[in-house]
Amino acid sequence: NVRVRFAPSPTGGLHLGGVRTVLYNYLFAKKHQGDFILRIEDTDQSRYVAGAEEYIFKCLEWAGLTPDESPLNPGAFGPYRQSERKQAGIYQRYADSLVKDGHAYYAFDTPEELEQMRSRYKTEQNPSPQYDRNVRLKMRNSLALTESEVKALLDNGTPYVVRIKMPDDETVSFTDMIRGEVSFNTSLVDDKVLLKADGMPTYHLAVVVDDYLMQITHAFRGEEWLPSAPVHILLWKYLFGLDQMPLWAHLPLILGPNGKLSKRDGAKYGFPVFAMNWTDPKTNELTEGFFEKGFLPEAFINLLALLGWNDGTEQELFSKEELINAFSMERVHSGGAKFDYEKAKWFNAEWIKRTDAATLLPAVKNILADNHIIVVDDAVAQQVIDAVKDRCVLLTDFVQQAGFFFQQPKEIDIASIQPKWSEAKQLFFAEVIRQFELADHWDAAQLEQGFKEMAAANQLKPGDVMLPLRIMLVGGKFGPHVFDIAQIIGKAETINRMQHTLG
Ligand code: GLU
Repeated sequence: NVRVRFAPSPTGGLHLGGVRTVLYNYLFAKKHQGDFILRIEDTDQSRYVAGAEEYIFKCLEWAGLTPDESPLNPGAFGPYRQSERKQAGIYQRYADSLVKDGHAYYAFDTPEELEQMRSRYKTEQNPSPQYDRNVRLKMRNSLALTESEVKALLDNGTPYVVRIKMPDDETVSFTDMIRGEVSFNTSLVDDKVLLKADGMPTYHLAVVVDDYLMQITHAFRGEEWLPSAPVHILLWKYLFGLDQMPLWAHLPLILGPNGKLSKRDGAKYGFPVFAMNWTDPKTNELTEGFFEKGFLPEAFINLLALLGWNDGTEQELFSKEELINAFSMERVHSGGAKFDYEKAKWFNAEWIKRTDAATLLPAVKNILADNHIIVVDDAVAQQVIDAVKDRCVLLTDFVQQAGFFFQQPKEIDIASIQPKWSEAKQLFFAEVIRQFELADHWDAAQLEQGFKEMAAANQLKPGDVMLPLRIMLVGGKFGPHVFDIAQIIGKAETINRMQHTLG
């Protein structure tokens, strides 16, 4: 049974890269009729951001990527928060057994001692010396001290961390689902801390223990974790056996249009899913998210899926079901994926076109309401959505494209018609109003025909009078076919708006 997990640290908002990891996990799980698990990695209390966990739940829900097991919906493998697993003593036990077997050791060094080590061994070739096989015997730890010295320190309650003892000059390797065979030499890796002085595990220990206990079969994570893989492989080997290790895929970075994704791009493109109600620690700004920008969740997951993956054809538009069918980890690219905001908007425009009015209605009503435009009649609103959705790239575009259907335009761009406002036109529109008042069948095609006939009878080109009519009804030079607008807003409102402009 396939079991995959997304394991975010609640240290801020969920950005593009994080949600893409969620999506690939989700697609993989659904494709293989497996389970998608959400595990909160909250062991680094110094980086904890209150509200970040709720934020993550909310994002997953909006995107339609709901986990099968999570802190909100626990399965048989809980707890689903690492801080709660720590309370159960899970990590301490494994750390102690690693020490007992000689694969890890207690280190009692104070922060000052670590600082001294760094300045003592600093050279031009090695500007930031690590705690590794070269220095470990010169430090205060259970490899360098006698057994009775260690016992005394432990008995005194001296704070300690547990470090992995990286072996000398061994090659460790694994097969990445995207990159193929990857190997490392253990001599190049430092003795990473596994358990901190407060008893909290570091990511290195926790990820291995939890992936094992939660019976994870495949682990997908960002490429930034590739250098830590040798530590994790050794922990798997020491604790559970390499045959138990999940298959791993390290997902490529997401890059901006010009290469590396800069902090400024983040603010500009609204990288989080939702605006965060805390300032982004990375940019120090309150950033708008894809939600506030007016993205549809269907478009959002479609564009995310294509950031680093395709199915080998030219197809770009995929529903969630189609993605589940087509997805495979082997087709994820190993190189960075370029995020292009203009392309992201294209996906959204396409999804607005393909989505029916009834489905769009709630989101459109919310956005209109945020702009103090109240919809009273849902049936009318659906007609409006159908009439204008091809003109909307973002849901927020409905404010301009649909707003005037529900309320009189606040400002009429009268200046754009007035210079050509001859007396003939004034008389013409007065007559149009009279005719409209008499109309007993209020239908776009008939209105158009009548209007054109009147124009011809008055020796006016229809083009010269259609724009003024549009400005009277819409307020500006935009919107769908003018007689469709008239039909939807209705007879009384059409006449009312014309009279309002004509005075
Ligand atoms: N907590 C890690 C992170 O947020 C998880 C990495 C993983 O999925 O193993 O990057």
